[in-house]
Amino acid sequence: MPKYQPQRGTYDAYYDEAINIEKIVQILKGTASLYGYTPIITPIYEATELFTRSVGESSDIVSKEMFTFMDKGERSITLRPELTAGVMRAITSNKLYANADLPLKFYYYGPIFRYERPQKGRFRQFSQFGVECVGINSPYFDAETISLAYSQLLMLGFPHVILKINSLGDQESRDAYKEALKLYFADKIQNMCGDCARRYEQNPLRILDCKVPEDRLLIEGAPKIQDYLTESAKDYFETVLRILEESGIEYQVDDSLVRGLDYYSHVVFEFHYLLEDGTSLGAIGAGGHYDHLLHEVGGPDLSSVGYAFGVERLNILLKDIEKEHYEKPNLDVYVMSLDSSCDDEAFNLTEYLRANGFKCEVNFESKSIGSLFKVANRKNAKFALLIGNDELEKGLYKVKNLATQVQVELRLEDIVEYLDHQLEEVEGEHHHE
Ligand code: AMP
Repeated sequence: MPKYQPQRGTYDAYYDEAINIEKIVQILKGTASLYGYTPIITPIYEATELFTRSVGESSDIVSKEMFTFMDKGERSITLRPELTAGVMRAITSNKLYANADLPLKFYYYGPIFRYERPQKGRFRQFSQFGVECVGINSPYFDAETISLAYSQLLMLGFPHVILKINSLGDQESRDAYKEALKLYFADKIQNMCGDCARRYEQNPLRILDCKVPEDRLLIEGAPKIQDYLTESAKDYFETVLRILEESGIEYQVDDSLVRGLDYYSHVVFEFHYLLEDGTSLGAIGAGGHYDHLLHEVGGPDLSSVGYAFGVERLNILLKDIEKEHYEKPNLDVYVMSLDSSCDDEAFNLTEYLRANGFKCEVNFESKSIGSLFKVANRKNAKFALLIGNDELEKGLYKVKNLATQVQVELRLEDIVEYLDHQLEEVEGEHHHE
């Protein structure tokens, strides 16, 4: 076994894996731009305090999962465990709210670090694609944001998804609810796990996130947030649900959904997908509305809504859904130089084809024609273009469709048009399948 392996919880992606991850991100970005979003790129590390204040001390992320270290200047640095805090910090540092029409709409994509126990669909370095819609407090923007996430999943090719949604209400609702939870758990907490004991003190809402089976039994009987929402918080939630219904977006209200970060209020949501065998990888994306985060990091007190998808989870699921459509490395044309005296011509012709938008490779070491066809097949080339001395003399090139085995002879000036036409047919067929 080679001496160096990827670190626990990290992975290398290449070939079809890497191609499809990029394809997924491209679709996510394209769809977000239809909703008026532009990219934002922020640093991979930030001051530790940014996360302890914004994500919250009571969250699992801050209490257990951060990659934190001292830099050479004795500053406590943390590799970002999520991207929202960094985006809020960037908006504040650059005063982006000052001269802009609100809401600000940013999408991001990049690596996230959490020291978790690795398993299928759970890594220590993974990637999130997310959006933040910052500056307006409106159920319409909450619904628009959910609708964007929903559209992205459809564009990616998910045949259906499960949208779970809940409301955490406003501050007043949450304060009343926390009181009720404290009362309910008061005589139970000593029999619950150590995490729950900590959560009871810091933020009793988090107890509802506990996964310990014995604790779950006690949690089932706990008061429900719905019964503690103020009238205006109830109205807000009902408006979001009505807009979703009118847009044909199906949802399930799940009153156990509280989300693992401290900054949410009003609407929180998660997307799930069940594989054919009924199993799930956990949430594929999640988000919600938050009211004071920008203020918390030193900006004005503006409301926002956002969510993030786990790109690796999307990829694992789409691989299962698409199976044979899951893209492999491929070429439009494999150019075969049949003799070293033809290499110059082969080089130039390949560049010419690339300039016309075809994905091409070319061989430069003389190989038998039989082995060149084998290479072309391994590279999933759609066409082979043969260049030998014969072809150069006549000015006629052989172009072979590797799927149908049909071969034609073409003059240089006709090759591009021929390939364009043929590839359109191949792709059209693929489309109709
Ligand atoms: P969160 O920021 O915890 O709400 O997570 C948002 C999304 O990121 C989740 O729905 C997952 O798809 C993904 N995700 C979270 N943690 C991990 C992880 N450790 N490994 C891979 N994906 C993750």
